[in-house]
Amino acid sequence: MIPIVRGCAEMTRLARAWRGAGASLGFVPTMGALHEGHLSLMRAARARCARVVVSIFVNPLQFGPGEDLERYPRDLEGDRDKLAAVGCDAIFSASAQEMYPPGFATHVSNERLAARFEGALRPGHFRGVLTVVAKLLHVVQPDVAFFGQKDAQQALLVRRMVADLAFPVEIVVLPTVRAPDGLALSSRNAYLSAEGRARALGLSRALTAARAEHARGERRAAALLARARRELEEPPGLSVDYLALVDPETFEDLERCEPVGLLLLAARVDGTHLIDNALLGSPAG
Ligand code: AMP
Repeated sequence: MIPIVRGCAEMTRLARAWRGAGASLGFVPTMGALHEGHLSLMRAARARCARVVVSIFVNPLQFGPGEDLERYPRDLEGDRDKLAAVGCDAIFSASAQEMYPPGFATHVSNERLAARFEGALRPGHFRGVLTVVAKLLHVVQPDVAFFGQKDAQQALLVRRMVADLAFPVEIVVLPTVRAPDGLALSSRNAYLSAEGRARALGLSRALTAARAEHARGERRAAALLARARRELEEPPGLSVDYLALVDPETFEDLERCEPVGLLLLAARVDGTHLIDNALLGSPAG
């Protein structure tokens, strides 16, 4: 059975003991309800590091009022079984009380990179994300931490925080894992009805269409975005929150996709907020 560690001090002691014995330590932070996207991060961590810790914590600080904090899927025992199959040395699963004891008052934020897209739709979201990631990195003290490109703005903010504040950790960002029909895996897909899920395929279709347009030589952002938007709007059923082609390092709008551009999109299906993205102009995209 994979041990479940509940206390910050206990987690730090365990991690220090492993690293003291010469083991490299990999870390995968998650909110649980694990799927193949999470498990791909685990496998990469496993391949790279002698010891791997996963955290499972539905972080209240990154949910806004009226968001899905209460109904967010939770399945610690199911997650433990999935982790046993890929191999994991400890699950760090602290309570909100343990992470944010009375008097907790210090936060990490990046107002510039959080001003747009997910940050604009969800005020305070990235402040919550950066604060919890900073704390988790201090508690676990990994050599390498693994994140998914599915949450592209989050991955950039984490990389920026680690560089700006000199966290002694390497950040690895891995490609989005998709269902066979193209839908990016997400714990929130569990909220979708079969019919809603079919409509949600508009997101990945939009990315594929823009990628095909790019492969045909189109470099104008306006044309690439128009192609993606057509796919999102026809057939109707998705409500588009944003669609943009940005510089992957700054998240500022591009006029032309040269040499690369990150196509970002978010839409709601029956009230469920879904995001996806694709890097155009790179074989990895
Ligand atoms: P979450 O549990 O949603 O907070 O996600 C935990 C980590 O898994 C984050 O680094 C996500 O970017 C990553 N992740 C979520 N979905 C996917 C996916 N479909 N492919 C790859 N990574 C993912």
